[in-house]
This record gives sequence, C-alpha cells and structure tokens, in this order.
Amino acid sequence: MKKRNRKRRNILVPILYKDRRLMELLLRGYLNDEGCLIWRKNADKNGYGMTTFTENKIKKSWRVTRLIWTLVNGPIPENMLICHRCDNPKCFNLDHLFLGTHQDNSLDREIKGRSRVQIGEKNHQSKLTSSDVLLIRKLRNEGIPAKELANIFKIHPSHVTRLMGSTRWSHI
Ligand SMILES: [Zn+2]
Repeated sequence: MKKRNRKRRNILVPILYKDRRLMELLLRGYLNDEGCLIWRKNADKNGYGMTTFTENKIKKSWRVTRLIWTLVNGPIPENMLICHRCDNPKCFNLDHLFLGTHQDNSLDREIKGRSRVQIGEKNHQSKLTSSDVLLIRKLRNEGIPAKELANIFKIHPSHVTRLMGSTRWSHI
C-alpha cells in the first residue's frame, strides 16, 4: 500500500507544478460552499474579477475568467464569451465556466431562471481510499490548489474543501 502511494505521488508532482502562473492565479481565490472559486482581489463594475497578466513583457488587464480559460484552453475565439453556469461573476472555477455566444448567454440565463441547477454537490460521492485522503491533505497543505487536486482525483473541489475541514484554511 505504501509503495503504491509513493509511486503515485512521484507521478503527480510534476503534473501539479506544470504551470506556476496558473497555480498562482488559482491561489487568489477561495472555494465557497457552492464550489465556486471566488476571486478575492479587484473586480470591475459588473462584479467580474480583474487582474493584470504579463506575457512577452507586455502587461495587460484581464478578466480573471478569460485569463484562466486562456491559460488552460488556449485563446478564446473572437466574439465568444466566457459564461458562468453558476451566475456568480466573481467565480473563476473552470468547471463553472463555458464558452458561449451572446445568444447562449442569454438563453442560459433564461433556463436558469426557471430551474436553478445545483452545481456544488454534484460529485461529492466518490470512491477515495483513505490513502488518497491522506495524500490530498498533504498536497493541499503544501499549497496545491483544491481545484488541481479535484481534477486529479476526479472529485468536486468542494469535496477537497470538506476533506480539509472547511474552517481550517478559510484564511487563504
Ligand atoms: Zn461558480
């Protein structure tokens, strides 16, 4: 059992550290009870998280949702929007974001108005072993974002929060 653990961790660490810029961005959010990753810094007048990002020595102002999408998925096609499934403009959890047109965005708003979707609890029944839980706790304490851990262990980010005890790291 111990052997398997060590092997797995060696595989995980390089994956987790592959993009430090992304990790730094993720660490500027916190997970709320709905599983939204809430931007803790500046927001624009519509409530969207804003930040600056330097690439090729050019500093640009970005909407956080567009920046995280671009870092993970590549450039956003022209005239496309990053829409929220959760209707929280400060949320930059990629699981809550989707690429859409202006039309999709208003259609989505309309559907949600009629039946509100429960996102946060979606995936919290999972098949983690106790050694998985220990590994998650350890990596989280080392500063690996819950979102990253959630992706790797195929669980919802709110589950990671729950494993850690939600009050314990509410300061970050
Ligand atoms: Zn959200």
